[in-house]
Amino acid sequence: MKVGSRLSAVVLAALLLLSSCRTAGPQTAAIFAMDTVMDFTVYGGAQTLADAEARVRELETLFSVTSEESELSALNRSGGGTVSAETAALIPAALALCERTGGALDITVYPVVRAWGFTAGDRRVPSGEELAALSAAVDYRGVSVKGNAVTLAQGAEIDLGSVAKGYTADRLTEQLRAAGVESALLNLGGNVQAIGKKPNGHDWRVAIRDPQSKKNIAVLAVSNRAVVTSGGYERFFERDGVTYHHIIDPATGCPAKSGLLSVTVVAESGLLADALSTALYVMGLDRAAEHWRAYRDFEAVFVDENGTIFLTEGLQSCFSPISRDAAVEVIRL
Ligand code: AMP
Ligand code: MG
Repeated sequence: MKVGSRLSAVVLAALLLLSSCRTAGPQTAAIFAMDTVMDFTVYGGAQTLADAEARVRELETLFSVTSEESELSALNRSGGGTVSAETAALIPAALALCERTGGALDITVYPVVRAWGFTAGDRRVPSGEELAALSAAVDYRGVSVKGNAVTLAQGAEIDLGSVAKGYTADRLTEQLRAAGVESALLNLGGNVQAIGKKPNGHDWRVAIRDPQSKKNIAVLAVSNRAVVTSGGYERFFERDGVTYHHIIDPATGCPAKSGLLSVTVVAESGLLADALSTALYVMGLDRAAEHWRAYRDFEAVFVDENGTIFLTEGLQSCFSPISRDAAVEVIRL
C-alpha cells in the first residue's frame, strides 16, 4: 500500500469511528415526578437514566409536601424531629437563601399556599383575616436546624416547592458526572440543567416562553448551567375575572404583584437558580436588579407586564430573541 492510500485508509477509519460515536444516540426519558413532567437527555454512561429516575423518586419521598407519607409532611405534622441527611442539607441551604433575599423567599409559606389551594384541595380566595392569621406564622427565622434535628416555630410548616427541583437537579448532575456523563440536558418541569455542551460541541439551547402567549420568545445558549424559570402563568386560577397565581409574597400572603410575569435565572447551581427565580419574581425588577448588582453570582432574564424583556448584561452574548420586534433592555452594573 502506498503512503497516500495508507493515509486515506487511516482517515477513513477515523471518520467511521467518529461517525459511529456521533450516531450513538442519547438515552432519553420522560417521567412524572414532583408534580411535573421531567425530560432527560443523556449522552454516554450506562444505566444512568434508571439511576437518575430512582434518585428523583427518593428525593420526592422526602420533600413532597402533597404526599402525607413524605418526610417533610411528617415534620410539618410534628413540628420538629430528626430528618434524613438529605433534608438536613436542603433546609439550611434554603434558609440561607431566604435570608439572602430578605424573606422574599420564605419556605415557611406553606399554610398560606395551602389556604389558596395551590398544592392540594380546592383553589379558593381566602379572606383577608384568614391570610393575616396564617401570615403571622410565616417566618423562616423560626426554623432551627442542629445537625439532623429540625424544629419549627408554633404553627409554621415548610414548603420546599420553590427549591426542591433545583436541589434535585444539582444532585442528578453530580450523579451523572460521577457515572462519566459529559453531555446531558435535564428538564425538571421548567428547571433546566445543562451538563457540558451538546455532543457536537455547541452550547445547549434553552427556550424562554412568553408568559402571555406561551410561545417561545427567546433562546439562551448555555453549557454547565442551570436555567430556571418562575412565572405566574405556570400555576394559576381565575375567580370573578381575577387571576391568582402560585408565587406568594410572604409579606402579604397574596400572589405577588411585582409587575413581572416571569423570571429566568441562569447560575451554576440549580438550587440557587430555583430559589432566586421565585424570590426575584416577588421582589420585582428594581429590587431584583439591585440583588444582581450586589451578588453577581447569577444572571437573569425578566419579562414584565408590558412584554418587555430585561436581561442582565452577562447574558448578552448568549441571548437571542425570536422576534426581531421584541423590546429588549439590558440591565447594567
Ligand atoms: P417556583 O415554581 O420554584 O417559583 O416555586 C413556587 C412554589 O413555591 C409554589 O408552588 C409554592 O409551593 C412555593 N412558594 C410560593 N411562594 C413562595 C415564596 N415566596 N417563598 C417560598 N416558596 C414559595
Ligand atoms: Mg423556584
